[in-house]
Amino acid sequence: MPNRAVHDFLTVATSVIITPVTYSILSGIPEVSEWATVIAALVFVSHNVSGILFSPDLDMDTHIHKRWGIFYILWVPYQMVIPHRHFWSHGLILPPLLRLGYFFWMCLLMLYVVETIAAYFGLAVPNLQQSVTRLVLTFVMAHPYECVTIAAGFVSGAAVHSIADWLVSGGTKLVRSVFVPPQRGTPKSATTPGSVSSRWLFDPFSSESPRHV
Ligand SMILES: [Zn+2]
Repeated sequence: MPNRAVHDFLTVATSVIITPVTYSILSGIPEVSEWATVIAALVFVSHNVSGILFSPDLDMDTHIHKRWGIFYILWVPYQMVIPHRHFWSHGLILPPLLRLGYFFWMCLLMLYVVETIAAYFGLAVPNLQQSVTRLVLTFVMAHPYECVTIAAGFVSGAAVHSIADWLVSGGTKLVRSVFVPPQRGTPKSATTPGSVSSRWLFDPFSSESPRHV
């Protein structure tokens, strides 16, 4: 599958295409044209944040963790629980939204831990987790379209990564099937282009995963 630099390049390159396309479509619709700039900017930011910071490779790539600095600790439980290169990290729609929700809950948990430690030492701290939750809920209720846009940007940013992994995995199999003759005893189906599966992109119960190259 592509390395980090290729994934980063693909994320930024696709955002440079998606953003003006989004702007030009929305600016042509009178009902939403005044929001075209804001929506396009949100798509650009959320697409890149999803692909670079909230990358599907958070399931195992420690270099992606390093991008979080000290806050990499938030992703340690995620790395331990989520199967490597599987639907729950590399699937198309649910996994990027899962990472967003996971991040939110881990932030709340971190605030809770800080408050508990402060209380133990007799320090009075405001209830930050409630304030943050209220702030986020108020924003979601007041700006539903912006939130849907952010979610869509998260999905598209992760999808570019997952589809690239799938294409490269499948491409390798395809090249091998064309140029490398199957070895004796190898089932024909294992080397034919038809054996390249995309099931793990959609199916949470799939035991398949992209091929590591
Ligand atoms: Zn990957």
